[in-house]
Amino acid sequence: MAKVHFIDVTNRDGVQTAGISLAKLQKTMVNYYLGQLGVYQSELGFPCIWHERNYIEANLELARRGVMGSLVLEGWCRATVEDVEKAVRATSLQHLNLSVPTSAQMIWGKFAGRVDAKMVITNMVSAVRRAKDAGILTVGVNAEDASRTELGYLIEFAQAAKDAGAQRLRYCDTIGIESPMHICNRIKTLAKVGIPIEMHCHNDLGMAVGNTIAGAKAALEAGVDVYVNATVNGLGERAGQADLLSCILALEFAHELGGEVELGDRIDLTVARRLAHYVARAFGLPLPMNQPGVGASVFAHESGIHADGVLKDRRNYELFDYDLLGPAKLCSAPDGRVITTGEYGGLAGLRHVYEQIGIIFEDTVQARQILELVQAANAHTQMPLTDDELILIARYPDQVRKLLSFPLVEPVVRGRETTLEFAGAAGNG
Ligand SMILES: [Zn+2]
Repeated sequence: MAKVHFIDVTNRDGVQTAGISLAKLQKTMVNYYLGQLGVYQSELGFPCIWHERNYIEANLELARRGVMGSLVLEGWCRATVEDVEKAVRATSLQHLNLSVPTSAQMIWGKFAGRVDAKMVITNMVSAVRRAKDAGILTVGVNAEDASRTELGYLIEFAQAAKDAGAQRLRYCDTIGIESPMHICNRIKTLAKVGIPIEMHCHNDLGMAVGNTIAGAKAALEAGVDVYVNATVNGLGERAGQADLLSCILALEFAHELGGEVELGDRIDLTVARRLAHYVARAFGLPLPMNQPGVGASVFAHESGIHADGVLKDRRNYELFDYDLLGPAKLCSAPDGRVITTGEYGGLAGLRHVYEQIGIIFEDTVQARQILELVQAANAHTQMPLTDDELILIARYPDQVRKLLSFPLVEPVVRGRETTLEFAGAAGNG
């Protein structure tokens, strides 16, 4: 039976949203929480962008040490031989998604006659083959603007990707023009190619989750595995993307989905509320009060009939339990006097804060090393560090040091690559 998996793209599509961004430590924490949530894959960033390199390598090391659970870490680049070679040279990623536009609008509108539809397929095939030759284990091919692409051409494109060795085809509703009925029919036809399909829907008409789920159901009914693309809190280019938690909840609880659709990932929803609050805080975007599952009003009842009904039996007005999505708390701040640590903190404060979360340092040398990293991390995020960030720093100092530093790949200085370290850091772990 075909199954549904989840690919989170917060660290790629989410951070592309105009005007907002995440620090590398925050992107790392998103991967950490996604690993706990149990989704299949995180599109963690851009291997061809120089400042992503140490972050990507540090996250791959953390994954090898079991910090990310079974989460697959995958990078995004353009479907060109040049980008694939750059990604392979710059990082040790084993999973890539390669993106190219497929609609007549974008092929003409972006390439202005330099590349035609036939060349789009030829170039994509070369890029997939280059990735496979370089040892990339899974290659996803992203058909940008698939929803405005002539279906016959899209089928030809998907078949060529499959024949070249790609594992998945990403159906991108890049401008959010899809409707549930339309996407359902197209995915049913596209699925005949027999390649697993990724649903990647934007929310310009407010239908991203509905379109994603409709497309996913069509792929399942046609017998191919489907990989739902989504972001935490639905962030993403323009009006955003399908919200990850809404997609999971829909597949768990909605009519004709819950209990009927088989999830391929072992989802543990008890981390969902913490993840949503962490991402909202890190982006500096408060959660809307009606955000599905995690907004402030989602389990609040005031009007007479509703309050009375819930007090008698919460199932009168609630679809699932509050506890299902776990706690929201990110920092353990006691009542009364508060000691914090950070950019300008010292050893005594650091020891006190860490004792509160159950970590005692072996000696002063270790405490000083962690203090240095805490100072750097706080200077880097410019936000009070959360309990889980402090724990990650103490347990994996070498990887945190790496992700907080930036390789200067270009320009090359005297033929040698150099590393720009934060002040006072020793070595590059
Ligand atoms: Zn997108």
